[in-house]
Amino acid sequence: MRYQLSSLLVLLSGSVLFTSCSNAGSSKQDDAYYSADEFREVKKIDAHVHVNTFDTTLVNLAKEYGFHLISLNVGAPEYPSLSTQQQYSLFHLHRNQSGFAYTTSFDMKEFEAANWQEAQLNYLASSFDSGAVGVKVWKHIGMELKDSAGKFIMIDHPRMDTLFKFITDKNKTLVGHLGEPKNCWLPLDKMTVKNDRNYFSKHPEYHMFLHPEFPSYEDQINARNRLLEKHPSLRFDGAHLGSLEWSVDAMAEHLDRFPTMALDMAERISHLQYQSKENRQKVIDFITKYQDRLIYATDIVQDETADPEALKTYCKSTWEQHWLYFTSDSMMEAPEIDGSFQALHLPKTIVDKIYRLNAEKWFPDAFRTTP
Ligand SMILES: [Zn+2]
Repeated sequence: MRYQLSSLLVLLSGSVLFTSCSNAGSSKQDDAYYSADEFREVKKIDAHVHVNTFDTTLVNLAKEYGFHLISLNVGAPEYPSLSTQQQYSLFHLHRNQSGFAYTTSFDMKEFEAANWQEAQLNYLASSFDSGAVGVKVWKHIGMELKDSAGKFIMIDHPRMDTLFKFITDKNKTLVGHLGEPKNCWLPLDKMTVKNDRNYFSKHPEYHMFLHPEFPSYEDQINARNRLLEKHPSLRFDGAHLGSLEWSVDAMAEHLDRFPTMALDMAERISHLQYQSKENRQKVIDFITKYQDRLIYATDIVQDETADPEALKTYCKSTWEQHWLYFTSDSMMEAPEIDGSFQALHLPKTIVDKIYRLNAEKWFPDAFRTTP
């Protein structure tokens, strides 16, 4: 096995979100809709963050802004080891039981070793005993790891079936960040959002469009779909809009096909905004139809090196601007997108599902003390 796309994977995981808007304050003051002022008091969940430190800045800030957090342990080579990430998670879980939850992961390093499954099952079992509410799998499966024969290890590889069955039997949730935004496989001039275009123009070595020897976008999606077909009772949270961010039609098709699947929005809200700009009503119709299957999330990361003040500023602007996008009818702009687009003005009933109720359904153990 080898790691060859590490930098790409981390950069694409990083949180790059819009920060500006214009013409705020035009929302109707209607009981069916939330106002910007209600942002802090409404109970919310950010279902995809990474708290990789004992520092309490992010956890405290979340509380101040009315957020519970689900922190995902990830087997990314640039992250601390899984056991260190779990130590951070357990620290925050015990300190802040009602407002913090975490998902564990399993280690791919000795994937072909005879005792790999047993070792990973033991790790998962002990994580669940400690309070983990799910398991995260990451895109190095499919895009990076190869077996001893030089073949890419895809997510539906039979050696992982025992683990997915165990997760299902334990009534936990699998969070899957599998593949990448479709832009990664497109030529630069076909990419939809500016941050992808800028990045891949500077890093052609990571631009999958130029590397047909790697698995294709469809290979990634198909492997994930085969996994869900093999494990139809496995509750699945497709991180980053399930790598289907480019099309609400594609998301709808997959949600219809896989009833246990929800999609988290982490780091892909700009793709919804891009589609809003093209056809706002279509995005509203999609969210309305699938209002029970979409989960608000940001992918905010706090690691040991984070500057607390910068982190606070970033979180505040990210959370507030997302709130404005879903709740108001303002005209907005985002750095990733050319031009402006109108916010979605979703009713409270849908906002509550996206911001809390769906995450509570997909992670039923997460916030037991939540009223
Ligand atoms: Zn993430």
